[in-house]
Amino acid sequence: MSVKVCKFGGTSVADADQFRKVLQIVQADPERRFLVPSAPGKRHPKDQKITDLFYLCHAHAQQDIGFDEVFERIAGRYRQIVADLGLSLDLAPHLADIQQRIAAGESADYAASRGEYLNGQILAEAAGFEFVDAIDVIFFEPTGRVDQQRTAAALASLAQRKGGVVIPGFYGRAANGKVRTFSRGGSDITGAIVAAGVGAGVYENWTDVAGLLMADPRIVPEPRKMDMLTYRELRELAYMGANVLHDEAIFPVRQAGIPVNIRNTNDPENPGTMIVPNDAVPVVRTLRQITGIAGRSDFTVIAVEKALMNSEIGFGRRLLGVFENNGVSYEHTPSGIDTMSVVVHDAELEGKLDKVLDEIRAACQPDAIEVYPNMALIATVGRGMAHTPGTAARLFTALGNAGVNVRMIDQGSSELNIIVGVEAEDLPRAVRAIYDAFVTNGSDEANAAQAATETRNPAGTP
Ligand code: ASP
Repeated sequence: MSVKVCKFGGTSVADADQFRKVLQIVQADPERRFLVPSAPGKRHPKDQKITDLFYLCHAHAQQDIGFDEVFERIAGRYRQIVADLGLSLDLAPHLADIQQRIAAGESADYAASRGEYLNGQILAEAAGFEFVDAIDVIFFEPTGRVDQQRTAAALASLAQRKGGVVIPGFYGRAANGKVRTFSRGGSDITGAIVAAGVGAGVYENWTDVAGLLMADPRIVPEPRKMDMLTYRELRELAYMGANVLHDEAIFPVRQAGIPVNIRNTNDPENPGTMIVPNDAVPVVRTLRQITGIAGRSDFTVIAVEKALMNSEIGFGRRLLGVFENNGVSYEHTPSGIDTMSVVVHDAELEGKLDKVLDEIRAACQPDAIEVYPNMALIATVGRGMAHTPGTAARLFTALGNAGVNVRMIDQGSSELNIIVGVEAEDLPRAVRAIYDAFVTNGSDEANAAQAATETRNPAGTP
């Protein structure tokens, strides 16, 4: 039988009511055998995250300031969950031990990890699953990277067990034997590593949203959810600032070819968003060939012009060499016959712009250099673009009609996305225009075109 690894985010395990939803989800599918909980998150916007409170305890202890009050808040929340769930689990010895260790100077990582540790104890007890401490299955190298081999071996032997297992998220064992955490939000990473390690059929990431959205909801009101996207599309969108799973949390499952299913604990019937390997999805021919839109501002374009640049061997290398020598990473290099522009994120250029310009002048002897600050890049991503004539026309018509001046165009050779550069202040207008063209107004035409394609090519013949 295939197994599923289910990671439950902080709001999914914030109190007993949420725990009950989690238990129902687990009981609804016998394949859900590996559970990775976060620490209790916020129950309402003004609430505190248990992880933050643990960090606070540690900070107090470091300054020799008593932290009983903060610790009592933590303990109270756990006691409440245990009591409300009617469990016989006695957390008192765990809590006393943790409090004493933090007071005695244990690390911030140790303190922070206890949120997951305790929640793991509760979830294991409530689900009737075995508790397996993350320090026994997730190992770090001295460099701080995950020790792939040791971790894989430990998880492979765990996969042999018959029953269900709970592994707390967010931490593992450092090379010196102590607890080490991932970066904040790191339970996602634990879930992905466990999924790869036990050879899961699916990695379910349970959170408090219906899935990934096609556009930023602060820009497009109530954007549609993405039902399915590929890892490559996800990477393009994440890179362009879409708020999705962290790269580190994707890498282990992507490498293993395991699909990720983002699900909503508060709406378990909703199938959520499926992220799949690139070759797992057939390309469907419709006009609504975009998967999502993401935009990021704070870019600067440095445009270099020089007559006969096209025949000057080594010009591009010398230009980009200046960026390399200054430790500046660039994003794109759109070019014309006698022009070449370099698009750079502002953070990369901070304090270096004048030096970079001087060195370009020296290395390239250009006729002119222009600097355009306050640019935004917008990526319109869709695996179906390559197969759909008219995508670019539709996109640029929409931007033109919205009065957005397109300053740069870049289409990757994969034809997975079209990137346009616009003035930062035009970003929201541009994203809305693209969304409307492809999604709001695109759907009817897409359906009509799909129907027409199907009638012309019955039974799915290409
Ligand atoms: N509890 C940790 C945090 O708040 C890790 C996580 O929730 O994923 O960052």
